[in-house]
Amino acid sequence: MGTDRDHADLMRYISTTDARCPGCDYNLGGLLADRCPECGRQLTVRGLVKHRHRSPIFRATGFGLLVSGVLLCLTCYGALLGLVYLAFFIDWSSSPLRCASMGPGARRTWLVLAWTPAALIAIVLARILLMVFI
Ligand SMILES: [Zn+2]
Repeated sequence: MGTDRDHADLMRYISTTDARCPGCDYNLGGLLADRCPECGRQLTVRGLVKHRHRSPIFRATGFGLLVSGVLLCLTCYGALLGLVYLAFFIDWSSSPLRCASMGPGARRTWLVLAWTPAALIAIVLARILLMVFI
């Protein structure tokens, strides 16, 4: 059992994010205790943040920032933006707490932002290949 302050931090974290139990992935929304009602696991903010940072959407966003950054760096006009994306990638991988406390809307926005340059470059490459081979 943690201190009152730990408990208050935990309650704030659960009420502002769509936190899930690290043990059984149970949705903890509205929970008032510091134990998972499904599997009985003791919950801590640290444990929840770690679990959340491992989620597929966070990995997909980090990977998208990296892929877009590298691809942009290989283009003549996008190199500077590519460096910005690589800086975002480093920031994304090194600040799990901030990323984990984002709401669902912000997470979706980041995912789209991360993959947009990579998708555009893929479309341009596909068009060039079509022109060459057809
Ligand atoms: Zn659980």
